[in-house]
Amino acid sequence: MAEPYSRVFFGDRIVDADQAKLGVATSAMLYGLSVYTVFPVQVDGGTRSVFRLADHFQRLVESCKIIGIDRFAGEWDFERFAAATRELVAENDPQRDVFVRASVHVDESIPGTRVRGCGITVSMFVYDAVPIVPQDGMRLKTSQWRRIPDDAIPSRAKVNGAYVNSVLAKQDAIDAGYDDAIFLDTQGHVCELSAANIFLVRGGTVVTPDVSSDILDGINRRTILTLAAEDGIPVVERAVDLTELYIADEVFVTGTSAGVSPVIEVDGRAVGDGRPGPISGALRKRHTAALRTDVEHGWVTPI
Ligand code: PMP
Repeated sequence: MAEPYSRVFFGDRIVDADQAKLGVATSAMLYGLSVYTVFPVQVDGGTRSVFRLADHFQRLVESCKIIGIDRFAGEWDFERFAAATRELVAENDPQRDVFVRASVHVDESIPGTRVRGCGITVSMFVYDAVPIVPQDGMRLKTSQWRRIPDDAIPSRAKVNGAYVNSVLAKQDAIDAGYDDAIFLDTQGHVCELSAANIFLVRGGTVVTPDVSSDILDGINRRTILTLAAEDGIPVVERAVDLTELYIADEVFVTGTSAGVSPVIEVDGRAVGDGRPGPISGALRKRHTAALRTDVEHGWVTPI
């Protein structure tokens, strides 16, 4: 991640980045007990817009609900969240596209491993929108680390502590010379990457693991499913075997920080002819346009 811009939302106001600090004894620090989301802000000359802000807020609410962070829903509603976003972005006045990372931290000191009733602090910061994976064709490796199952730490909840699982997989993939890792579940079905959802295309049909496959219900995943269906491309959400990726015509990934990006190699096997494919390319273009100009779905909000 790039450095945060200088002004940060922390608690109930905007402060300088070096003032936005959580204590060493907070549950956020001790147990990774924070939930978060990252959403994009598009900057076009004098205008700025956010993409699917209400969906990001809703996912944050749901992450809190799953984990048991019960004060967030009482203290925050979408209007407050949108107002904080607007103020934060205006204060930092970015001149190019940025991401905003919004987190709900459990900031009580040493309450033990519990959560309900604990105090929270919300933080939001802005950083340059630099993709976390190559955009012109990435190489993936299946991880030896399995995705944490829903009945251990749910991937559906975007909880900081769970990202140790992603760090293990991503670092090993990088060390082995790959761009990112593919997580399998304990049965061997495909889940997702360290921080992106995965799709394959075979015989003109777009296939992706369903939401009960130990994945994050990615907002860009939902976007691609909607856009593909509207373009008349058949889409199927179901359990996916690893070997389906090996014989796919195309593979691509989605995520706020990953974009809609083609995969050209999986475990040493070329995907299709080893070059980004036409359906991935068309969906990437549709997604790029939707990020800035969507009107029909109400996804874009000027801020
Ligand atoms: N899976 C994981 C594990 C992630 O961290 C992310 C990034 N938030 C995604 C998928 C993609 O989600 P989204 O499209 O909402 O950014």
